Amino acid sequence: MKVIPKVFPDTIRSATHVVLATHVNPDGDALGSLLGFADILQGLGKKVFAYLEEPVSSMYDFLPNCSIAQFDTDALQDFVQQAGSENTVTIALDSGDAERLGIAKDILLSNSPFLTIDHHQGHRPYGDELWLESECSSTGEMVYELAQQMGVELSVAAAFCLYVAIVTDTGSFRYDCTSPRTLRIAADLLEKGVRPAEVAEQVYDNYTLARLRLMELVLSTLVVHSTGRIGIISLSAAMLEESGAEPQDVEGFVNYPRSLRSVEVAAFIKETKEGSVSVSLRAKGKVDVAKIAADFNGGGHKNAAGFRFTGKSLPEVQAEVLLALQNAL
Ligand code: 5GP
Ligand code: MN
Repeated sequence: MKVIPKVFPDTIRSATHVVLATHVNPDGDALGSLLGFADILQGLGKKVFAYLEEPVSSMYDFLPNCSIAQFDTDALQDFVQQAGSENTVTIALDSGDAERLGIAKDILLSNSPFLTIDHHQGHRPYGDELWLESECSSTGEMVYELAQQMGVELSVAAAFCLYVAIVTDTGSFRYDCTSPRTLRIAADLLEKGVRPAEVAEQVYDNYTLARLRLMELVLSTLVVHSTGRIGIISLSAAMLEESGAEPQDVEGFVNYPRSLRSVEVAAFIKETKEGSVSVSLRAKGKVDVAKIAADFNGGGHKNAAGFRFTGKSLPEVQAEVLLALQNAL
């Protein structure tokens, strides 16, 4: 059991209203911990504003309680105003730095108390109070621990959301961050009624044809360097157009270059519609990609990290990333 700073359960208990937020382009851990925590808090009788910048993507709209998410920043400010700031706590989940909170960053951070729950190595603190567990598999696991400490009985829906958070952030219990505690928590979530086969089907066998077409295009860009130790794939904005896929459909693609036997570090370089280029890094073995990402003002974990460029073309970023990876090896 983690040692949770006392201010977390205390502040949550005394609040009547809770604003929850997570990082932009939310993944399974971000959405699972947000929606699971929202359910837990509602079970405690709290009014919850679960803020997301955009509607839940089709990849995750199987999550229970998706409909409670809200996207309007005016409504967010009204929620806090009507409740009174003394009755409201704002909690950020799974966001390694303030920038990742997206367009509502300043509105969210103007609230106090502001609590942060995160597990990113290289977390850059923001808000009033931080509970950081960089050894923890997922924010979903931390929300589970908090619920335990607060004596909450999880609903099936909350258990399902937290299980999705843990499964997605551990790569189905394959990554280094999977601990004995992770598996014990997962076992408890199964006892609450989660069916792992159902989750696996929703997470891994639920893709659109457009996503597979996009994968075809992206995989055809694979290049390997340094006698196979580096594998890089890329996405151009034109590939999104051609396939008809959504930007979030690329989740998991970076695992393909990493799956190569010889690869020690993999990169996925993505041109976005907005004209920036984002980079996902994955490592196995000794390379610490969180360090590489930090050099580019990004962040993440030892084995999975990312960063973003603005004002550079895809080929420029490809050349720069290759150089950084070669230096890291
Ligand atoms: P992904 O490659 O799946 O987008 O992200 C891998 C890890 O790196 C995640 O833990 C994510 O939070 C982190 N990450 C990705 N992009 C960024 C970024 O631009 N800034 C920071 N600080 N972390 C990032
Ligand atoms: Mn996470």
